[in-house]
Amino acid sequence: MNMKPKITPIRELMSQYDVLLLDAYGVLVNGKGSLPYAKEFVNHLEETKKDYLIVTNNASSSTYAIAKSFEKNSLLIPQEKILSSGSLLSPWIRENFKNDSPRVLFMGSLESQGLLQEAFCHITNVKDYKENSLENYDVLVICTQEEKDFRLNFEKLMSYLFQAEERNSFPQIILPNPDLIYPKDEKNFGIVSGMIAYMLEGALRLRFPRKIFKIEALGKPGSYIFEKAKDKFPGKKLLMVGDQIETDVKGAHKAGIHSALMLGGVVCEKSLDGEGAYQPRFLLENLKVL
Ligand SMILES: [Mg+2]
Repeated sequence: MNMKPKITPIRELMSQYDVLLLDAYGVLVNGKGSLPYAKEFVNHLEETKKDYLIVTNNASSSTYAIAKSFEKNSLLIPQEKILSSGSLLSPWIRENFKNDSPRVLFMGSLESQGLLQEAFCHITNVKDYKENSLENYDVLVICTQEEKDFRLNFEKLMSYLFQAEERNSFPQIILPNPDLIYPKDEKNFGIVSGMIAYMLEGALRLRFPRKIFKIEALGKPGSYIFEKAKDKFPGKKLLMVGDQIETDVKGAHKAGIHSALMLGGVVCEKSLDGEGAYQPRFLLENLKVL
């Protein structure tokens, strides 16, 4: 039977697990700044030398820039303790294309595009893609686009994918950040790249109803980011702390990692009653350690 998980203090979880994998948005920060107790919690982890790793779906900045933005919110987290889905982009391309330099069509900000620097590929930003050009690409990378021109660029991308499928040169689609939404503050939400992929999938299903298109998620709930996290702590007992069932809890579950769901983030607490395929092992109310 599926029992509703119990609210457990973070202190108890720290003694039960060797390593804490921490989501950033909805756990340590939101769009406005750091969340209550986050600063004391991070200081405590550092002072007691507790093993931890920030596992974030952020694909819009480098780990250096992420560490800097944490610092602005008084969270002193070393860059080496951040595993972001954006930082997996170059390794993924290198692992999948070995010595080739693939042609990449890119949707997203210039800052995200910079994450491909070490991937040795030819990049075309969707802004520069000419409609009806017969250009073929090996990979399409979907990152979050600024609102400006979003519709125009989305429509170009959708039409390119339709045409590519018709001429049998459909690219591999990579989605560094599969998140659909994020909390801007306590009551308001914004959309992220996962929503763009979701819309593209819907469009492809309408045009090619008998075909299934695979979109490879690098970040949570994809397994790639969890495997990289596990590689860093061989043989240790890990706990994922996140605010989303769809990404943090589901992804950890698939990777054989226990999870704790932080309340007050993306998931509405009211919806946690009853049966669910992916239940967290614990619920957390806050990060109060002392
Ligand atoms: Mg989150």
